[in-house]
Amino acid sequence: MNMQFYRKLPIPMEIKEQFPLSHGAEEIRKSTISALEDVFSGKSDKFILVIGPCSADREDAVLDYIYRLRGVQDKVSDKILIIPRIYTNKPRTTGEGYKGMLHQPDPNSDPDLLRGIVAIRKMHMRAIDETGFSCADEMLYPENHRYLSDVLAYVAVGARSVEDQQHRLTASGLDVPVGMKNPTSGDISVMMNSIKAAQSSHVFCYRGWEVKSAGNPFAHSILRGYVDKHGKSHSNYHYEDLVNLADEYEGAGLANPACIIDTNHANSGKKYLEQIRITKEIINSRNYDPRVKALVKGLMIESYIEDGCQKISADEVYGKSITDPCLGWDKTERLIYDIADSL
Ligand code: PEP
Ligand code: MN
Repeated sequence: MNMQFYRKLPIPMEIKEQFPLSHGAEEIRKSTISALEDVFSGKSDKFILVIGPCSADREDAVLDYIYRLRGVQDKVSDKILIIPRIYTNKPRTTGEGYKGMLHQPDPNSDPDLLRGIVAIRKMHMRAIDETGFSCADEMLYPENHRYLSDVLAYVAVGARSVEDQQHRLTASGLDVPVGMKNPTSGDISVMMNSIKAAQSSHVFCYRGWEVKSAGNPFAHSILRGYVDKHGKSHSNYHYEDLVNLADEYEGAGLANPACIIDTNHANSGKKYLEQIRITKEIINSRNYDPRVKALVKGLMIESYIEDGCQKISADEVYGKSITDPCLGWDKTERLIYDIADSL
């Protein structure tokens, strides 16, 4: 056999029983989801920032970072709703490299999925219990999502997954807002179709069960730029792109038209410092055109303690990304205050 089934993992229900969410954490999650839904439905005009490292590689630095966000959130809470990124599953373009804490709780050691499942759940639970943030993660593997389904307040479906049927159907059964990214090719119709699929009810096969989803009315778009056939990055956050997306939504018959713009990835060409300029351009476009303002509900920013990124090594720099380059803390803090001032 080409695949060795060498260890049976506990199912999500067993892990949830072993590591239950506190009552307080459940309440925080509920109120975070309802605050997000108010923004996506247009009831609230707060601006969402899904912000944090590309990958949550070590608990100490991630928690340190999120504690810092808490201080900032409390100062801008009348205008901004911060949802920290704790991304524990990393898609890899070639399959090579660090696949996230789920696979490698220690980036310098071999994969250990059992330890990984416990490590990501504990890290997300610490974030809620200690900092009051119910966070965001990417749903890279739909069948693994339920290890975290009771702790997350926001889920993204990534650019490499958004055309996949199982991701779309699973998204339709989530009880949190789910952002569907444009695919790496940039085809907006793929993203719009994925939102339609996620907003609809489906009967399908999930974790050995026949299930029925209710449809997720808060499924929305995330623009992340795209890569052309020559491998060159192109952005899709400019004013014309946003007007075009507003046009796409018109007549599409979707609930809660909404967009989050990812300022890194192909939008910055991973020139992470450009995230500052890109953010300012997007805020300008919103302030210029009420239609764009109504559509663009927030940003996704890749940010950590230190600027940039580094290779994985035994003596790595604390708080510096080991995947995509991130904006460091000082610049991040300033940027959030600038956003609050310019909304
Ligand atoms: C990410 O958010 O870190 C990511 C991998 O995004 P994308 O799916 O847009 O490449
Ligand atoms: Mn990234």
